[in-house]
Amino acid sequence: MRINTVLLSLTALGAASLTVLQPAQSAHASECAGSATALKIINAGRTSFFTRHPSGVVDEATANKNINQAASGLAAKRSNYGTAPGGSVCLNTAMLNGLYNMTAAYTLSISEIAGGSHTAGSRHYNGTAFDVATIGGRTADASNPQTQALMNSCRRAGATQVLGPGDAGHDTHVHCAW
Ligand SMILES: [Zn+2]
Repeated sequence: MRINTVLLSLTALGAASLTVLQPAQSAHASECAGSATALKIINAGRTSFFTRHPSGVVDEATANKNINQAASGLAAKRSNYGTAPGGSVCLNTAMLNGLYNMTAAYTLSISEIAGGSHTAGSRHYNGTAFDVATIGGRTADASNPQTQALMNSCRRAGATQVLGPGDAGHDTHVHCAW
């Protein structure tokens, strides 16, 4: 309805070219870079993304929602509970590249990206971190032989904050942040 109205208005004005309105997504220009990388991660089909937070909360900021928001060129939503600040943030392109590299090398499930409630000031809130819940189908804890390897891989891929078993609050997941 609205597009038709605009077209009619332009026609009435004798607009020389209506082709500027042709791209269907012109009204949804990308807010954020990195959508191609996010799409590659999804399309590779190797990685699962949580559809609820480990806290049990379901909102628009789950890892699954976040990676799809990024693939659409949209800012990733943050949660609105606990210390989470709400709103949204563009996922960091270095983090997305790092995530892509990790998902190419390991079979992962990702429990959080920008959503969930973390320690105040967490890098999740500025879109530079992801959490890994399982590697090779097993919990990312100290008994999983791939846990330390993944942590090392994140560091080699440029992560500047890598936390895992032995770090407070990280006995059952790995946190990589750029
Ligand atoms: Zn984390």
